[in-house]
Amino acid sequence: MKVYLEEFFVRTSKRFQVVKITERVEKAVSKSGVSEGICAVFTPHATAALIVNEYEPRIAEDYIKWVEEVFRPGGGWRHDEIDSNAHAHIASSMIGSGRFIPVSKGSLVRGMWQEIMLLELDGPRERRVVVQVLGV
Ligand code: ZN
Repeated sequence: MKVYLEEFFVRTSKRFQVVKITERVEKAVSKSGVSEGICAVFTPHATAALIVNEYEPRIAEDYIKWVEEVFRPGGGWRHDEIDSNAHAHIASSMIGSGRFIPVSKGSLVRGMWQEIMLLELDGPRERRVVVQVLGV
């Protein structure tokens, strides 16, 4: 089994933001030299999340609208007494910090409209993204 690990950083500029990272993950898969296997993408933060879906400006706004409506920033959460970001902790825990994507023929197996995105929930911050590729 071959194991490859790489990490990169994403600088966000807004409180809520959708950042497409597909190309950077694909590059890591390419550098790994793995042809058949699996790719784990993970962001080691409590107030960000990773999603896989379509990326275009309007749906990106819709993802943020959904986060705001469902997780209600400033919605009377207990943790807001500490640092006003309870919505981000809850959204991160429910949406998830990582994803697994199959690797075949040296590339990520994705649908035509599937992109990998970092979802900033309490920015602006610098976010770390870890990519681990396991080859058989
Ligand atoms: Zn907090």
